[in-house]
Amino acid sequence: MSIRIQVLGQPESDNALWMEIDSGQGITRLLFDCGEGCLATVPFGSLLEVDALLFSHQHMDHIAGFDAFFRCLYSRNNRPNVIWGPPETARILQHRFQGFLWNLHCEMEDVAWRVHEVHPSAILRTRYQLAEAFAIAHSEEPLSLTNTRIIDTSTYTIDALTMDHRTTTLAYIVREQPKRNIAMDRVSAMGLRPGPWMQRIKAIPQDGDASAEISIGERTFTLGELRAALLTETIGDSVAYLTDFLLDDAASSHLVNALQGVRTVICESQYCHADLSLARAYFHMTTQLTAELAKAAQIQELVLFHLSRRYAPTEWLAMLDEARAIFPNTRFPEHWDISVV
Ligand SMILES: [Zn+2]
Ligand SMILES: [Zn+2]
Repeated sequence: MSIRIQVLGQPESDNALWMEIDSGQGITRLLFDCGEGCLATVPFGSLLEVDALLFSHQHMDHIAGFDAFFRCLYSRNNRPNVIWGPPETARILQHRFQGFLWNLHCEMEDVAWRVHEVHPSAILRTRYQLAEAFAIAHSEEPLSLTNTRIIDTSTYTIDALTMDHRTTTLAYIVREQPKRNIAMDRVSAMGLRPGPWMQRIKAIPQDGDASAEISIGERTFTLGELRAALLTETIGDSVAYLTDFLLDDAASSHLVNALQGVRTVICESQYCHADLSLARAYFHMTTQLTAELAKAAQIQELVLFHLSRRYAPTEWLAMLDEARAIFPNTRFPEHWDISVV
């Protein structure tokens, strides 16, 4: 397991998710949403190295802590400042960027903030410069989007599914790339001498490279032949972040497919199931719907967060039990000490 997660915030306050993907060669740090006070438990040094902030949407309870995030990072120029979100994210973030007096930063030419909006068939990209006091929205070349995959690196992927919250929200699924290893017993059995060629076998396959030839000693193979004969793959770790959307039948079947085999799903638990009509009216989920989704998607673990403030602390355990009756491996975040309420 090499994706570490920490739900941020308490049960009666805003929540968010901090994630660290450890590839062995480096750590990718991601923040999902930024509610009020959520950064209080994130070490300052880690926050300085965050790789991206990914918004589900920008209702107040998901963006109210953005000033603290921005105050820490506004002038960072040693790595990209990247924000993801649904349509409208760039417009809303520009207001947040411009919500301060900027008169001392006109020479900081190299500080840019890049906002990526996920639309149905494209990623729209807008750049803002600190030196311009964030006044100009520079449109950059959009990226075409043919499926839900918005990030695909050598170590991990992120899918963003468009959901309905009476506005667009994004549900995120993060998966490590499969771990590729060479079966050394098969290398010996084929009479091959280990060498640098093994790195090409382990590299992530590119379209069309299976027919590329590779020479080992006096013999020549195709990459496809060697991969089929020698490569073993282990599925990587995976975590999903789901919050603030209507979980009707269509959304459920969409998610059941996308979540198959995910290790941990962090999911909102806004309403107990007796309040299903409220959940439907406000385009949220209930404990029971969430647990049914977890069961159908055959995930390993369900972590409930983002409870509605309409419930008293004495009702939280009953909400957890309601989910556990359907999907037993359900829990609240470790730091929520609700057993004593
Ligand atoms: Zn919310
Ligand atoms: Zn919302």
